[in-house]
Amino acid sequence: MLKDQDRIFTNIYGMHDRTLKGAQARGHWDGTAKLIQQGRDAIIDTMKASGLRGRGGAGFPTGLKWSFMPKESDGRPAYLVINADESEPGTCKDREIMRHDPHTLIEGALIASFAMNAHTCYIYLRGEYIREREALQAAIDEAYDAGLLGKNAAGSGWDFDVFLHHGAGAYICGEETALIESLEGKKGMPRMKPPFPAGAGLYGCPTTVNNVESIAVVPTILRRGGEWFASFGRPNNAGTKLFAISGHVNNPCVVEEAMSISFEELIEKHCGGIRGGWDNLLAVIPGGSSVPCVRGENMRDATMDFDYLRNDLGSGLGTAAVIVMDKQTDIIKAIWRLSKFYKHESCGQCTPCREGTGWMMRVMERLVEGNADPEEIDMLWDVTKQVEGHTICALGDAAAWPIQGLIRNFRDEIEGRIKAKKSRRPGVMAAE
Ligand code: SF4
Repeated sequence: MLKDQDRIFTNIYGMHDRTLKGAQARGHWDGTAKLIQQGRDAIIDTMKASGLRGRGGAGFPTGLKWSFMPKESDGRPAYLVINADESEPGTCKDREIMRHDPHTLIEGALIASFAMNAHTCYIYLRGEYIREREALQAAIDEAYDAGLLGKNAAGSGWDFDVFLHHGAGAYICGEETALIESLEGKKGMPRMKPPFPAGAGLYGCPTTVNNVESIAVVPTILRRGGEWFASFGRPNNAGTKLFAISGHVNNPCVVEEAMSISFEELIEKHCGGIRGGWDNLLAVIPGGSSVPCVRGENMRDATMDFDYLRNDLGSGLGTAAVIVMDKQTDIIKAIWRLSKFYKHESCGQCTPCREGTGWMMRVMERLVEGNADPEEIDMLWDVTKQVEGHTICALGDAAAWPIQGLIRNFRDEIEGRIKAKKSRRPGVMAAE
């Protein structure tokens, strides 16, 4: 289990003072100017050495992403955009940082922006996060008053401004190019890539979009060293990570743990076990609603990291939002509900996603009732394959994967329901 002295987030439960004074007492904003004076290359090298992979779901190496930003400006400004549009069902970790530990995010924004030659950072906050906006804005105001932001921020010689932008509550704005469009005042619709944001992002300028947690861990990594961070977890899956466990555990919670912890340890140590015991575990969605579900019996020994969940279980770590479902769950209905969500949130610009999400949802609706033919399961599978990988952004994949997970793992359940329905309708059977 991760020791308290190795936790990056020291106020994740809001038990301590979240103001600047409290944050400084816990070690934030300590020697920030010195960290910056190491220079751009040294900061990026440390980030690479830490092995940090982006915490927003895709898991792309953070240091490498930063290195894509142009070293010399061609006259255009560069921007850091922090993606705080945390909207995926099950994911609720960044909100804890913003409302209880906001200074580590702001300090991280300054350091990361310096490393990418950016004097300006925008934080794009989810529309529904009202209290988080208040807490974060109060922290930004305090930091300006204390000279930690603005001209010569924190005495580093770097001029730096942070703007907090409140979204309107659209899930798709969490996709980095839709977020940029929305920041520019347009409809939040994903852009075709290339060009990638590092070449032409916000206002056509070099931009890096990073998740809240990815930026909030930066100051501690620089203070304690890349090797310290890399000492947690397995190679290629380094560091500590916020896990958000919800559903049928005795104590749902958000907790910082070492990457690659076993699922059983995570649940037993922090969540008080599965409701009704391990034999009552039906399924787990280990990484937020867009990754495929896994059967309970395959999860108990699972290693909670990017590579294991993808390679060994055909799922993913995503945002580490762990949704636990016990045997009381109607798993078909649970996945139908996710289909409904993705249908609602599709921006509609690509046909496979616009039409496919609605089509998949309607078939799922019938599967919940068992009101279908067994062949339709294969047809549904085929449609998910026609959506997956054929769209502008990853929402198409996100809509397809939960259904694929359901068919792969719970086909017997779907077929059983269809059979049961037919056996209750002898007239229909006779007519066929
Ligand atoms: Fe919009 Fe869906 Fe296409 Fe993404 S995949 S751009 S959400 S229509």
